[in-house]
Amino acid sequence: MKIKRTIEELRRSLEPARLKGKTIGFCPTMGALHEGHLSLVQKSLEETDLTVASIFVNPTQFGPEEDLSSYPRDEEKDCRLLEEAGCDFVFCPKVQEIYPNGACTTVRVTGVTDHLCGASRPGHFEGVATVVSKLLNIVGPHRAYFGIKDAQQLCVIETMVRDLDMPVLIRPCPIVREDDGLALSSRNRRLTKEHRNEASCLNRGLCKAKALFDGGERNAATLEKTVRDEIETNSGRVDYVEVVSMPDCQPIKTVSDRALIACAVQYGDVRLIDNVLLDI
Ligand code: AMP
Repeated sequence: MKIKRTIEELRRSLEPARLKGKTIGFCPTMGALHEGHLSLVQKSLEETDLTVASIFVNPTQFGPEEDLSSYPRDEEKDCRLLEEAGCDFVFCPKVQEIYPNGACTTVRVTGVTDHLCGASRPGHFEGVATVVSKLLNIVGPHRAYFGIKDAQQLCVIETMVRDLDMPVLIRPCPIVREDDGLALSSRNRRLTKEHRNEASCLNRGLCKAKALFDGGERNAATLEKTVRDEIETNSGRVDYVEVVSMPDCQPIKTVSDRALIACAVQYGDVRLIDNVLLDI
């Protein structure tokens, strides 16, 4: 596996494969890699000729009070994991490489960003859409892999790619979980032991709501209360529990079509998100 740190270096090294007509798969990450990230790499390896991952903790998607400085970073281990997984290239740019002075263009996706994390993290998705569009322009992949763990992010990226006619196929990947159901996340390693034990309630609540839905419940408030009640049995502070339509992420009162129950919960200074899809 080759590690590339500049845009020019990366573009130059991908050129021969591109000229030979090979397909390129891309998995953008913020590092501190786990099996969830590696599942995206695995899918790209299966579906494309050459797989590129990126590790970039994007400052523009963090709010001023958020955990940019404490976000876990371990580039050496990440590169070892990517190499073992069979990844071909990893792009690890410095902040200055991605945001040189004078960059004054941002990408803002409206509508789909109105609720959930879009409402509780102002500016977050603008940072995400901007950096993902830059990374897609830099790598030029045929396919790009994103986790359903960040379901609203996936909807934002799909909307952006459609609206800006970006020549890439977005491939959603299922959520990888711990044995107790907690969705893998780089932030999990920052949980205290007590909070880590408690945090399995997100998935438990979502599973209970999904079971109700499978049994015929269609009232969004009832489904939301089921999740909230499960989470509020411990010290997690609920940021939101919301049923939204898919893929436009708008709040609904009754589930009559494809929908999502999404939640965000704060444990100390660690914010966790999770969700479950409701398919009619
Ligand atoms: P991040 O490093 O948190 O920005 O995540 C990079 C990519 O990995 C995003 O597309 C995430 O949705 C995806 N991802 C993160 N956690 C998981 C997980 N537990 N299962 C599947 N994909 C994940």
